[in-house]
Amino acid sequence: MAIYNLGSINADLFYHVPHLPQAGETLAASSFTRGLGGKGANMSVAAARAGAHAVHIGAVGHDGLWAQERLMEFGVDTRHIAGLPDTPIGQAIITVDQAGENSIVLLRGANHAIPQTTLAGALAEASPGDTLLMQNETLNQRKAAKMARDLDLYIAYAAAPFEAAAVTEVLPFLDFLILNEVEATQLEEATGQTPEQLGVPDVIITLGGKGARWLHKGKRQDFPAFPVTALDTTGAGDTFTGYVLAARDRGLPMPQAITLAMRAAALMVTRHGTADVIPDLKEVTEARF
Ligand code: ADP
Repeated sequence: MAIYNLGSINADLFYHVPHLPQAGETLAASSFTRGLGGKGANMSVAAARAGAHAVHIGAVGHDGLWAQERLMEFGVDTRHIAGLPDTPIGQAIITVDQAGENSIVLLRGANHAIPQTTLAGALAEASPGDTLLMQNETLNQRKAAKMARDLDLYIAYAAAPFEAAAVTEVLPFLDFLILNEVEATQLEEATGQTPEQLGVPDVIITLGGKGARWLHKGKRQDFPAFPVTALDTTGAGDTFTGYVLAARDRGLPMPQAITLAMRAAALMVTRHGTADVIPDLKEVTEARF
């Protein structure tokens, strides 16, 4: 089976500066690093590292071929990433000061210009029972969900970055919804319904260092987090999502899939970085907590 992930791909551009720039100020950066980012890309990498056939559906600009190559090195199927001639790759321009405080400018770029033909071309390869995963850093999720329903795919959605209108328009199509604690509260405020009342068969609420909650058929089950010393929680949720869906795709029952995803996410928070450091299945199964 395969996981088709309609998702963002970003260049994360880190500029280390003595202080965050003021209006009108010109500031020299002491160093620069470029990484692969975007929730979509992170989730594709996590699913691939977990052993799934992860097919990324997305777009980059002519300046983003390196990102596509990086995804390929991580084991992601990149055949359905469009290379757009006139649109830049999505970017996060991140200035970080000496105290670790940051400010971020986001450019959606190619993530908001994924051609319909790219989406249709990818889903034309899908078989019933494959997964369609989406987040909220691209457009056309509802359209993709409709296509996926007609193809009998398992439809999964990570409600991040949270936007009430975007979540509510795909809700009726979902088999699986994953949110963190803040997003769960925002969704409850927006819909007036508890996560149990949404009518989605599987809902997972991740609770950071407290673990995760699974809501299924009117029941709730809590999974405590693995005890680790967290260094950097960036990408923990994306790693969890990629892993839990990869494990389910492989036929694992949801409680086991959640436990595996929590092991992967626990390992992830002990590392600095994002896509580059998402652990593979061997590391996750061998890790001792
Ligand atoms: P997000 O990154 O989307 O906000 P969370 O912070 O809820 O998501 O983290 C996702 C998952 O990562 C959690 O469900 C948990 O399994 C794991 N995790 C996060 N923080 C820790 C931590 N301090 N210790 C162990 N596991 C953690």
